[in-house]
Amino acid sequence: MAEYTIEQLRERTRGPVYTESDDGYDEARKVYNAMIDKHPRVVVRCLNAGDVMATVAYAAAHDLDLAVRGGSHSVPGFGTCDDGVVADLGAMNNVRVDPITQTARAGGGATWGDFNAATHAFGLATTGGIISTTGVGGLTLGGGIGYLDRGLGLSCDNLISADVVTADGRFLIASEKEHEDLFWALRGGGGNFGVVTALEFRLAAVDQIYGGPMLFEMSDAGAVLAGFRDLLHDAPEELGGFPGFQIAPPLPFIPEDRHGDTFALVVGCWAGELSEGEKQIARFREFAPVVAEHVGAMPYPALNSAFDALVPPGIQHYWKAAFVKELTDDAIQAHLEHAPGLPAVNSTVHLYPIDGACHRVPADATAFAYRDATFATVIAGMWPDPAQNEAGVDWVRNYYDAIAPHSESGGYVNFMAGDDQGRIQDNYKDNYSRLVDVKRKYDPDNLFHLNQNIAP
Ligand code: FAD
Repeated sequence: MAEYTIEQLRERTRGPVYTESDDGYDEARKVYNAMIDKHPRVVVRCLNAGDVMATVAYAAAHDLDLAVRGGSHSVPGFGTCDDGVVADLGAMNNVRVDPITQTARAGGGATWGDFNAATHAFGLATTGGIISTTGVGGLTLGGGIGYLDRGLGLSCDNLISADVVTADGRFLIASEKEHEDLFWALRGGGGNFGVVTALEFRLAAVDQIYGGPMLFEMSDAGAVLAGFRDLLHDAPEELGGFPGFQIAPPLPFIPEDRHGDTFALVVGCWAGELSEGEKQIARFREFAPVVAEHVGAMPYPALNSAFDALVPPGIQHYWKAAFVKELTDDAIQAHLEHAPGLPAVNSTVHLYPIDGACHRVPADATAFAYRDATFATVIAGMWPDPAQNEAGVDWVRNYYDAIAPHSESGGYVNFMAGDDQGRIQDNYKDNYSRLVDVKRKYDPDNLFHLNQNIAP
């Protein structure tokens, strides 16, 4: 294999291959987080599973680092590397819906925008992320949190099967019936086990939703967080959404003199009977007086793309994550101390509920271990100006240090920074040793190590 040359790689692949001397290399090496600026030896824009197999074989033959990229949203920049190989699946974004079986099959590089557009045509959806440009692959493999998870479970709970290229270049289909151990690990274990070239999902009837954002004064933020926490006890599972913090962008529904001010935020998404929506969303207004809101009936994909403009590609990102079993008053106090320091309009802190259908899946049924958490918190530091990096990163770290004593030791792998690798066992708790066993079986040499890594 040592004489597996770049020319042979070009011959074996249908998609373009970029090295430093090729036009388009600088575009091909770019990832979403502009803080990450790496120079891979080769980027393969894969078009099919065969291209992926050829790319994996090339990396293995030359003993090079291999980065896998789908939607490119990895905050630690796992979708690229210096002097290694990038398998970029971004062009494998086709989504096929079967309305009879209510299933959809997405290419390994599809985004939630691609997915929702395809399924919405049939009045169907599954749990996906809250931003349309995030990749289906990376999000689902880490678990998958979104508006619909209280009713439908995590994205990975809706996965029926995955097409996988493993480290030895084999193509496998993993499901409840075949390679069950691999299928178990893929549902939460991240990109540790292979390149997923297609994902098959179960869909549910979700068409128009009722929801949108509401802003509350920071002086009411404690009441908003506590109100949301308490509401979950008896809220129907069709009521999704999350509380958080947000600097007001210059949007027409927000009074002009409040643009740039920091607010407590609730985004709601009622995915049940539309006529019930107004009443369900009105429950948020009981937390405190609403300063501004943009709430109403809309197609589900409209809510899924409503905040895309706040997080365009090419800004700086540094994030940290924690799970809480109980959002205590002390934890809320820690939020109130640090949230007012949000460094830019792009930054946010969200507390995503993990309950309802997510809790009905046993903790050992998939790799995603925190079935007893009630919230997944993300401190998402994002700003356009690299000059803000030091102060922004400090803000995220200090915020995390303040909530950590009130949180579980593990966090959601998809919301974590590159310097969180030391938390890997905590992230998977009792599932960790089984994940190591699956890793040893499918990737004994740790070819897939650019991720929150489960070392063999
Ligand atoms: P990429 O950078 O392409 O991939 C990240 C890593 O995932 C890869 O390095 C690889 O290890 C793995 N991977 C991706 N695709 C494949 C594949 N086909 N086969 C094998 N491995 C693969 N998460 C949520 O749960 N809910 C949200 O609402 C949410 N919103 C987000 C919004 C923004 C703006 C951002 C930046 C992130 C958000 N996330 C959310 C986190 C998101 O789940 C992770 O960043 C995830 O890794 C993104 O996947 P990707 O395919 O876009 O990224």
